[in-house]
Amino acid sequence: MVLDSWRNLRAARHSASTTAGRRYPRAADGQVLVEARELTKSYAGADRELPVLGGIDLQVKAGEVVALLGKSGSGKSTLLRCLAGLIPPSSGAVTYRGEPLTGANPGTAMVFQTFALLPWLTVQENVELGLEARGVPAAQRADAAVQAIDLIGLDGFETAYPKELSGGMRQRVGFARALVVEPDVLMMDEPFSALDVLTAENLRGELMELWESGQFPTRAIVLVTHNIEEAVLMADRIVVLGSRPYGTIRETFEVGLDRPRDRNAAAFEDLIDRVYRTMTGRAKETRLPGRAEGVGRPEGVELDKRTAANTPLPPSSVDGLSGMAEMVAHRGGACDLADLADDLGLEIDDVLPIVDALDLLGFATVSGDDLLLTDVGAAFAGADVQESKTLFAEAVVAGAPLVRLITTSLRQNPDGALRAGFFRDVLAHHFTSEQVTRQLDVATDWGRYAELYAYDAERQEYRLDTE
Ligand code: ADP
Ligand code: MG
Repeated sequence: MVLDSWRNLRAARHSASTTAGRRYPRAADGQVLVEARELTKSYAGADRELPVLGGIDLQVKAGEVVALLGKSGSGKSTLLRCLAGLIPPSSGAVTYRGEPLTGANPGTAMVFQTFALLPWLTVQENVELGLEARGVPAAQRADAAVQAIDLIGLDGFETAYPKELSGGMRQRVGFARALVVEPDVLMMDEPFSALDVLTAENLRGELMELWESGQFPTRAIVLVTHNIEEAVLMADRIVVLGSRPYGTIRETFEVGLDRPRDRNAAAFEDLIDRVYRTMTGRAKETRLPGRAEGVGRPEGVELDKRTAANTPLPPSSVDGLSGMAEMVAHRGGACDLADLADDLGLEIDDVLPIVDALDLLGFATVSGDDLLLTDVGAAFAGADVQESKTLFAEAVVAGAPLVRLITTSLRQNPDGALRAGFFRDVLAHHFTSEQVTRQLDVATDWGRYAELYAYDAERQEYRLDTE
């Protein structure tokens, strides 16, 4: 039924698009629609330009679903915005059908995580917005919007306002608004991550059914996600972004699984595992003979070479990493990362910073899929509070350069106190101001627990802990 109405819509829009002056014919499968070449992007940092993306080469072709997968902060949204022409790259180029962009990409429409609906407009009016911007006459707008609303399962909600709708229904409006313009490429930035699990699952399923039916009014999909399973479920190609020292394409996976995809199939699980290992940055079996960079932790820096600049602290609280260490200890000191995340009901974004912190502090190592406590890590997990603080203090001084920097700076200062601004200035050479804040928050938490220093939030001052 839904598909029938979509066919009607296509017919209606066909005549509409001649009036609207459609410039491009429908692309054949395999035709390159959007392309990034040697794309880099920097943002203004606290005191200089900071690279976020470096040397990205990417093609989006007609007929494919591409997932951009990476940890939070790896530059996924930035790359998507560049491809959509919403922000210009710092260098390199983005082209649409071979032509360099000079502004918003005419072949794309975007669905955002936060729906981005106008609260004072009805569902119908919100959906029509996209067409209005493209100069489609009112009668055709109304017609096309009704059809798109029907397609996406919003029939009967035309006159509702966003606040009357559930999250899932609101996101349907987001989809309808993007689809109504029949973009060559539908771009989605974590479109399901603000929804509850069941709603997200349902919407994903419906969307992929429409896509597979061949009636979908777009020729390609680019999906930004931090959810591996979502990527493997939906994409033909998964592009994994790594974030150090800035966002680059770490690896690309061709999915090649039949649709609809069976989560329990061995090939599905196998791919999840492979992508998981790439995401954690420790893909031991991808090690190539004679290539050192595949060994161990590609992102890590040796203990004696670590600085506050090359070794940012993972955003993990002491509670979080102690809890994780205890959990692994209960399981005999070793466990499968994916299982652990699953059992805790956590996502990769939640688990990885904690794992990174344990690794950084020498409490655990990661080998393939397994998280293994070290001897110190096991001692830390089993220690009483005082003992745990002592072990933690030794670990942070050795392994967390920012905590060490703050501690030694305070010791060198006659009155044992320093303003946070001093460390902000030091860090500003290497991080954006948002990142500087995050780094200092973590260092404050860790240093306090280790009883190395105290922090007076009111005076914004660090002081040696002398008790
Ligand atoms: P992701 O979507 O993968 O989480 P983003 O593209 O949002 O990553 O961000 C990548 C990095 O760029 C982050 O460190 C973030 O803090 C920084 N960043 C994003 N947008 C801006 C901006 N407008 N100004 C300064 N820094 C930004
Ligand atoms: Mg993002």
